[in-house]
Amino acid sequence: MPELPEVETIARGLARNLTGVVIESVWLGSKPEPLKSPPAEIVGTLERARIAGVRRVGKHIVVDISRDSNRRSPVASRRKNPKQEAQWIVHLGMTGRLLIAQPEHELPKHTHAILRLRSGRELRFVDPRRFGRLAVVRHNFQAPGSEPLDVDFESFAKLFHGRKTPIKSALLNQGLLSGVGNIYADESLFRAGIRPRRRAASLTRAELQRLYAAIQQVLKEAIAAGGSSVSDYVDSNGDAGFFQFQHRVYGRAGDPCLVCRTPVKRIVIAGRSAHYCRKCQR
Ligand SMILES: [Zn+2]
Repeated sequence: MPELPEVETIARGLARNLTGVVIESVWLGSKPEPLKSPPAEIVGTLERARIAGVRRVGKHIVVDISRDSNRRSPVASRRKNPKQEAQWIVHLGMTGRLLIAQPEHELPKHTHAILRLRSGRELRFVDPRRFGRLAVVRHNFQAPGSEPLDVDFESFAKLFHGRKTPIKSALLNQGLLSGVGNIYADESLFRAGIRPRRRAASLTRAELQRLYAAIQQVLKEAIAAGGSSVSDYVDSNGDAGFFQFQHRVYGRAGDPCLVCRTPVKRIVIAGRSAHYCRKCQR
């Protein structure tokens, strides 16, 4: 499942390729699950609109859409009807991908949406497992939790006050922090020297400070590496990320800890795997 660094990488790639581009027409597949807004509303919002920008909010890709209501007399229409703005929100779920392709490229199986662009290319939404979601909104989209790269330390520390859940589960709770998933939670806890099963509320201020710094460091390093390619993640150009080669505990169960050589342990917390070093993490 793509986490914050992968979504950030995808959003940056799309922004480079799509900003300023006009969407000529939209095709939506017949599977209802991926569509969180009525199909007619998605088509009506996107067709003949301009992509003003693409960015990441939490684990969502937000495509800013601008429409001129009357292109024949832009000055007059702008006075009467200011530019209509909307946002196209894409959540990739487990296996969702947004791919830029030439129309003659073979359509992958499980393509649920195609945006035909005036540039001649297409933006395709492909999702075999159909946990991804497409929606259009008129308001400024907000993710439910705090943004881990923007939150200040005091607000970060407050998220865990009085929480009896394991710190690992609290990190995965998207209502608290937005975008941290299994990989980056495990990697951050390792760097901070904190065991995943520790109760969130039991963390000392010094530990919270280490965790805060570790999350920011891990996410920034992962973004710089283009994300982690585990399972089949690739960015919008089909390129893999390479942060998986820098994982210190995630996916390394039984392998020696890179610091102390103790075998990395894998446990299950609330149905999710967690990887840690018994010696380095307390
Ligand atoms: Zn160790």
